[in-house]
Amino acid sequence: MTDTYVYKYGDALYINLTNRCTNDCIFCVRRGGNFGEYNLFLRSGAEPSAKDVIKQLKSHNFKKAREVVFCGYGEPTYNLDVMLEVAKFLMGKVRVRLNTNGLANVIHGFDTTDKIAEVIKHINVSLNAPNAARYNEVSKPDYEKLKYTNWKGEIIQVENAFDEVLKFIYLCKRRLVYLTLSVVGDVLTKDEIDLCRLAAKDIGANFRLRGSM
Ligand code: SF4
Repeated sequence: MTDTYVYKYGDALYINLTNRCTNDCIFCVRRGGNFGEYNLFLRSGAEPSAKDVIKQLKSHNFKKAREVVFCGYGEPTYNLDVMLEVAKFLMGKVRVRLNTNGLANVIHGFDTTDKIAEVIKHINVSLNAPNAARYNEVSKPDYEKLKYTNWKGEIIQVENAFDEVLKFIYLCKRRLVYLTLSVVGDVLTKDEIDLCRLAAKDIGANFRLRGSM
């Protein structure tokens, strides 16, 4: 049985590139098992190639979709090269968006935002919290996964995932993409949501308040 790399939600198509993630958010949809009729756990254990994804996109008639979103049961930027290749294929054919936790630069150990912004113009970063302490509670980053080797060959252990998300957001902003910061309202207080909204305004990003799925 083929794994599900492309699934439909509303009038958009979503791309499921990986099950790997740095985080274990308390609201993550994968905690609930399958996503409706779709099993987004990659049963073969293997992540798709660009060819695999494009084949499924074609079978879903992707040009008719309102948009195509990189967002599955894992952080899409883990499978960066495939994401970039698929996004390049989609350019000019349909609107493309990336939903990300904003930790790609830690995952890969370099600034990925230039490559991403070349082929994806709409980026939604999950801000999730107004500060580092709450980010750790809500997004539950696994700090064992948040280390990388820098250009000098030194191993850098990230101590504050929230700061890394903010750095990613600022870099995206500099790349002139349409940037949205999102939070899940159910897990924050009203004051916390207001702080996040203010942060988005300060940065010049859109703000999206969403519910758990
Ligand atoms: S970052 Fe996304 S995929 Fe990862 S745990 Fe959070 S909601 Fe789930």
